[in-house]
Amino acid sequence: MFNKITIVGAGNVGSTLAFLIVANKLCKKIMLIDVEGDLAKATALDLEDSRFSFGANLSLEASSNLGDVASSDLVVITAGRPRSPGMSREDLVKINSSIVQKVCSQIKAKAKDAIVIVITNPLDIMTYIALTTTGFSRKRVIGMGSSLDSARFANLLSKKLRVAIENINPFVFGAHGKNMLVSSTSTIRGLGLEKFIKDREAARLKSQTIARGARIVSLLKKGSARFGPAASCLEIIEAIGLDKKKLTFAASYLNGEYGLKGVCVGVPVIIGARGIERIIEITLSKREKKVLTDAAKILRKNINSL
Ligand code: NAD
Repeated sequence: MFNKITIVGAGNVGSTLAFLIVANKLCKKIMLIDVEGDLAKATALDLEDSRFSFGANLSLEASSNLGDVASSDLVVITAGRPRSPGMSREDLVKINSSIVQKVCSQIKAKAKDAIVIVITNPLDIMTYIALTTTGFSRKRVIGMGSSLDSARFANLLSKKLRVAIENINPFVFGAHGKNMLVSSTSTIRGLGLEKFIKDREAARLKSQTIARGARIVSLLKKGSARFGPAASCLEIIEAIGLDKKKLTFAASYLNGEYGLKGVCVGVPVIIGARGIERIIEITLSKREKKVLTDAAKILRKNINSL
């Protein structure tokens, strides 16, 4: 069990995640930090009121001071602007990179043993900024994006094929954005997708997966998805807290894996108590390799432009 989990950014995703952590009793203390101090305070009070129903004996604190990340075991960064309709995740790069930098300087100074999960978009670039600002080992800086993309593909497959969602093994990784890689490695309990679905239909579901976040943004008109992202982050937190050694997908700094170096991008990983304990390299087709390599090139260009 974690002693202290800090969530920086008590907005849609941060507050939903905090609720899931309370419900699942994953730590002794949750610290919510938001520049809007009253938002963090109100959210903490509201969450406290859910403790009784869940029998959750954890404490909740709120702050507007980033220094209160001090002594956290785990820090989740959701601080920053979400997309508006018509915006790409990359449109957020300038404003959110300065926020993530500020947060990570405090993590480096005051929570030097923490594991950091980044949610703020554009995810892969913010993960890179978190890694370089904290100077932490790549094991301890995890970007949450591909686990959500995989969950979205699993959902669409399960609905289309009328197969239990737990039987779907989705493999969606690469950039968390329109260049994501929906890999043909995805299976239904080990059986290839071609046994269940025609190529044309599978391609349609892949496109819907890529567009899912933007579809939610355009329907909401203000803000972006929160329940899916919070659940996918919880999956990572549980894998760390319970040392599950779980195979999932997360943005990690690559140091030669998949022929890439010097970028953070979503890859299959094993997550346990120490964070990203292993990066799994799967065989990609020529086309899939190109999707991943091209995405990494764009990410590197964006990083260099900062
Ligand atoms: P939101 O606007 O509801 O919440 C963001 C919060 O961050 C706000 O309450 C704001 O006051 C706070 N904030 C801003 N600057 C801060 C700072 N310097 N210190 C502390 N808090 C600060 O937005 P949201 O819907 O919760 O989304 C948050 C981020 O997560 C966005 O960048 C969004 O694009 C991203 N997101 C990522 C994924 C993913 O899969 N990685 C999914 C959904 C959302």
